[in-house]
Amino acid sequence: MKKIILFLCISTCLSFYGQQNYNYWQQHVDYTMDIDVDVTKFQYKGTQKLVYTNNSPDELSHVYYHLYFNAFQPNSQMDVRSRNIEDPDGRVTNRISKLKPEEIGYIKIGSLKQDGKNVQYKVVGTILEVTLSTPIKSGKSSTFDMTYDAQIPKQIRRSGQTNKEGVILSMAQWYPKMAEYDFEGWHTPPYIAREFHGVWGDFDVTIHIDKNYTIGGTGYLQNPQEIGHGYEDKSKKLKKSKSEKLSWHFKAPNVHDFMWAADPEYTHDILKTAKGIDLHFFYKRNLEEKYLKNWKDLQPKTAQLMSFFSENIGQYPYKQYSVIQGGDGGMEYAMSTLITGKRGFGSLLGVTSHEMAHTWFQFLLATNESLHPWMDEGFTTYISNKAENEILKEGRNNPHKSSYLSYKTIVERGYEESLSTHSDRYHTNWAYSTASYSKGNLFLSQLEYIIGKENTEKGLLKYYKDFSFKHPTPNDIKRVMEKVSGIHLGWYLNEWTQTTHTIDYSVKSIEAKTIILERIGQMPMPIDVEVTYLDGSSESFNIPLEMMRANKPTVATILKDWGWANPTYTFKTAKAVKSVAIDKSKLMADINEGNNSLQIE
Ligand SMILES: [Zn+2]
Repeated sequence: MKKIILFLCISTCLSFYGQQNYNYWQQHVDYTMDIDVDVTKFQYKGTQKLVYTNNSPDELSHVYYHLYFNAFQPNSQMDVRSRNIEDPDGRVTNRISKLKPEEIGYIKIGSLKQDGKNVQYKVVGTILEVTLSTPIKSGKSSTFDMTYDAQIPKQIRRSGQTNKEGVILSMAQWYPKMAEYDFEGWHTPPYIAREFHGVWGDFDVTIHIDKNYTIGGTGYLQNPQEIGHGYEDKSKKLKKSKSEKLSWHFKAPNVHDFMWAADPEYTHDILKTAKGIDLHFFYKRNLEEKYLKNWKDLQPKTAQLMSFFSENIGQYPYKQYSVIQGGDGGMEYAMSTLITGKRGFGSLLGVTSHEMAHTWFQFLLATNESLHPWMDEGFTTYISNKAENEILKEGRNNPHKSSYLSYKTIVERGYEESLSTHSDRYHTNWAYSTASYSKGNLFLSQLEYIIGKENTEKGLLKYYKDFSFKHPTPNDIKRVMEKVSGIHLGWYLNEWTQTTHTIDYSVKSIEAKTIILERIGQMPMPIDVEVTYLDGSSESFNIPLEMMRANKPTVATILKDWGWANPTYTFKTAKAVKSVAIDKSKLMADINEGNNSLQIE
C-alpha cells in the first residue's frame, strides 16, 4: 500500500511539474479487471471497470478501445499485410491465414455501459469504436463497465497460447485497452505489426486460473499467502484453498500496460538486490541442463544491468522486475519482459539487457512507439550496447559499430526510409528495423560526436528526470540535449529523423599549409580534423557548424564556423602538412569513409 501511495505521489508531482512548465496534460485510467480462465479451451470471461479521466482541454464524444487479439484471425490486417510484404516476419508469414476456429484470437464484447447506461459501439477489426451517450467534459471522469468473452490465439506474434518452447500462456495485449488521446488527438491504429501507446493509470487485476499454473508478470501480488507458487513468505503458513482454481490478485500502480504469463511447469526464482528491488525469474523446469544453468547465471547479471540502467538513465522506481520465459523472442512490458529461453548464455544475457533497457524508454518514458519507434528501439539499443560492453568487459571503443554498419548497408542498397515514417508503413521490415534500431541508436551515439560524450550522458539523465511517466516526443529529446549543451540542434533533429539525407565529407586537397575540406552529402555536420605535420607532430581541430551557435567542449583548436551552404571549407595551419584525417572517433555516420583522409604524395 505504501508503495502505491509513493508512486501516485511521484506521478502526480511530476505531471504537475510538467503542466507548469510545458503546458502538458495526459489522460488517466484506473482499471479493475477480473477474468476467469479455462486452460483447456484457452478461453476466458472478463469483467472490466474503467474509470477514465479526461484531463484534455477537449470534450470527448467518442472513446476507442484496442481489441488486439482480433488481429489473430484469417484476413485480419495483420494477416494480409504479412502475406503481402516483401520480407515478412518469419514468426508470422502466412500462419494467421491457417488458424482453425479454435486457434484464432478474439475479444467479444457482451455489454458496455457508461456511468450505468448502455452505449452504442461497433467492433472494426482490432478497434472498438464507442459513441458516448453523454460526452465527457474537460476535467471530468466517466466509468465504463464491460463484460466480454475472449479466446487466446495460438501463439503467432508476442502473445498467445503454447509458444514454440511449450510455454502455455503468454498474455500480452489481452484485455480491452483504452486508446490514447493526447495533444495530437486519438491514436487508434489497427494492430498490424507494431507497436503500442497506452494511457497511464492504476491497474487492479484478478485472475482465476487452474491451481497448478504459476503466474508472473506486471504488478505486485496482493495475496501471496493464499497463492504460494514461490511468492509466499516461507516463515508463515500458507492459507490452502480446496478449490480447483486459485484467484491471483495483482495491483500495478501507475503503469500503461499489464502483461502476465502462466505455465504449470515454471520454476520461480527471486533474487533480492541491494536497492530493495526483487528480481523474479520464471522458466520451465524441464529445460535441458545447459539452459537451466544459463538461467541461473543470468540472475546476478540482471542485477548488474538494473544498476547500470538506473545509474545511467534514472533510478528504477518499482520494487519488482520479472524476466519470464514466453512469447516469441524478446518483448518489453511494464515491470517485466517475455523472452524465449532456449538460448546460449550470451544470447540470453543480450536479450535480457535489451528488453530490460526498454523499461526506461518504452515503459517509463512512454514515447508513442507507432510514430517514433526510433526513440524506443534506438535509445534502448544505445544504452544496452553500453551496458553489455561494461558488464561483459568487452572493452570496445565503439560498442555501436554494428548499428553504423547496418545503417550504411541499407543506404548503399537504396532501401532506407525516413525515421518519420509510421512504423507500419515502411515498405519493408528491413527498412523499419534499420531505421528504428540502428539509425535511432546513431541519433544518440552520433550526438556524442556533436555535443560531446559528457553532455549526451547528462542529457539522458535530464530526459528521464523531466519526462518519465509522460509521453516525450522527438522535440523533447532535442530540447533536453540543447539545454545541457547550449548547442542548437534543430538542424540535427530535422535532417536525421525527417529526411534520408546522408553525411559525406572529404579532404579535398592539401597544399603546404592550406587544407580544403568538402561537404559532398546533403546533411551537414561539425567536423573534427586530425592534422599531422611534416615534422611528425600532430594537432586536433574542431570546425563547428554555424547553425549550432556554439561548439562542443573539446581540447582541439576551435576553427571558425562552417556555414551549411558552402560546399568547401579552407583553413591554414602554422606548419607544413603531411596528412589530414576527418573524425578519428568514427562516431560520425559518414557513408563514404574512403575520402575522409588524405596524405601528400
Ligand atoms: Zn526492442
